[in-house]
Amino acid sequence: MDEFAMGGSNEHSFYGPVINPYSKEKPLVPGGSSGGSAAAVAADMCAAATGTDTGGSIRQPAAFCGIVGIKPTYGRCSRWGIMAFASSLDQAGPMTKDVTDAALMLKAMAGYDAKDSTSSKLPVPDFEKVLGQDIRGLKIGVPQEYRPDGLNAEIASYWDKAAEMLQSRGAEIVPISLPHTKYALPVYYIIAPAEASSNLARYDGIRYGLRVNGEKLDDLYVNTRTEGFGAEVKRRIMIGTYVLSAGYYDAYYLKAQKVRRLIKNDFDDAFKKCDLILAPTSPVAAFEISDKSMNENPINMYLNDIFTVSVNLAGLPALSLPIGLNHDGLPLAMQLIGKAFDEETIFKAAYGLEQDAGFERK
Ligand code: GLN
Repeated sequence: MDEFAMGGSNEHSFYGPVINPYSKEKPLVPGGSSGGSAAAVAADMCAAATGTDTGGSIRQPAAFCGIVGIKPTYGRCSRWGIMAFASSLDQAGPMTKDVTDAALMLKAMAGYDAKDSTSSKLPVPDFEKVLGQDIRGLKIGVPQEYRPDGLNAEIASYWDKAAEMLQSRGAEIVPISLPHTKYALPVYYIIAPAEASSNLARYDGIRYGLRVNGEKLDDLYVNTRTEGFGAEVKRRIMIGTYVLSAGYYDAYYLKAQKVRRLIKNDFDDAFKKCDLILAPTSPVAAFEISDKSMNENPINMYLNDIFTVSVNLAGLPALSLPIGLNHDGLPLAMQLIGKAFDEETIFKAAYGLEQDAGFERK
């Protein structure tokens, strides 16, 4: 994984990047941050894997590697044992070969845990039970803001096809609007680093992880943090510390919190008109390791998270599933976003979509 779950390509892994099993001549990224989990499942090295999704790290690597990944509702799974990245966004979930495995895995993973005060006490449904159930009458929202002019033509066409597949199963497609979508990335890239800088302030080499000794206690802290954090993590700590600092707190952090609420309200309004939302998972397919356009400016990498971060900001569940291959033979994916704690409806529709798409894993 990318160090401390920060990244979208696995290139910030301390051990070097995992290679996407779909690579041909040149090695491709598996997506991130949970790229190792996704590649291992795609390459049949294991039955299933786990990941965490703070801004897309289950769904986007699942998309890049042609597997299924679900980010459950915030609070559905315990995060005990996971190093916190952004505590108000982090959620654990399964990454699997198909929708059925995702339902089985989530059932096993979900539920209240006294060791995570944010885990929900709501009963965990039998997700497997809904697979194969009728989706007639289900309303599927398609957000207009997720289709900018420059959207990749193959992704746009698979999106239309997925909507048609659901429609031919009796679902109704309804156009919806999520007007604050354009603020989702800036809001995420203020709130996530702010929380990360606060969480990682505890990372001192005393109890967990790497320890680099020094002459005095202060040296131990400094040495551990200097060596233990990679470039991307340091960048996020600096951004986070900046937006939380006196004088900037109101302008950035507080403002971002307010806009986050507007983004959540958008979803609340949309879900008055529909039961699920259908959208692409990522605006791109897997790209080459060390791709210049992605790496020379970190913002280019952040832009790939455009379709995933809103879901975390609103605390909602969303499942990504492979829908087909692009002209290069690389997987593309769609996500189904549900109402809070309604993973059942997601699984029901995803199962049908999976059958109709007939995506064949390599
Ligand atoms: N790519 C996003 C980021 O870099 C998502 C990370 C995640 O979900 N852990 O922050």
